Amino acid sequence: MKKIKVTVWNEFRHERSDKTVKEIYPEGIHNTVKDILAECDDVEVTTATLDMPDQGLPDEVLNNTDVLIWWGHMAHGEVKDELVNKIKERVYRHGMGFFALHSGHHSKPFRAIVGATGDLTWGVEQQQIVWNIMPQHPIAKGIPERFGLFEEMYGEPFRIPQPDELIFASWFKNGNIFRTGCTFYRGVGKVFYFQPGHEICRSFYNPNVRTVIKNAVHWLYTELPDNVKDLSCPQQKVPVTELMEAEKEF
Ligand code: ZN
Repeated sequence: MKKIKVTVWNEFRHERSDKTVKEIYPEGIHNTVKDILAECDDVEVTTATLDMPDQGLPDEVLNNTDVLIWWGHMAHGEVKDELVNKIKERVYRHGMGFFALHSGHHSKPFRAIVGATGDLTWGVEQQQIVWNIMPQHPIAKGIPERFGLFEEMYGEPFRIPQPDELIFASWFKNGNIFRTGCTFYRGVGKVFYFQPGHEICRSFYNPNVRTVIKNAVHWLYTELPDNVKDLSCPQQKVPVTELMEAEKEF
């Protein structure tokens, strides 16, 4: 069976510097997300962290990744622009899926790929209701009409381009609303942003969040035909009609 190769990238700083976060995610958020995907037998998961050589993503890893999951927060600025460009190229030209979790809305790769500042309003942890507003979408498969979380408030205005699909929208107890689950098609690749996952909340243990993560990885995987694998900027030298006449296609 062809396996989807997923790399879970995590900044991995909060878990090492904050006792509360370490208690919730003792092996790091990346390993918790890895455990979620280990429940799928058609997915092969590896993890990468910021402090590894090449910031965890040397070419041999990045070029062998079908879907890249990204969790970052306090060290967005340390991610090298050269790496960000390579990630963007992988999405636009090679169809790699990019999956930004939670504070990944402000990560360099998310901003570069979707083309936005990713700014939003935020506030204290509180009750949240996630509404499943596109139940026919593959990412929403198995998700009820609504489910509750206790999360850091993320609110509108969320400075992103209009999403291609808005799958989940949320209410927060303090009155804010937010576009919790959004897709974007970029180049020949796909992007999904999903808001839950604050480091001191426990959302990565929530069964609905776990289902969304598994569904999203499958949706983000793109198997491109060979003729679009090296998409560049070719000059059309011979009129297509001439080519087709020569091949007797008319
Ligand atoms: Zn947060």
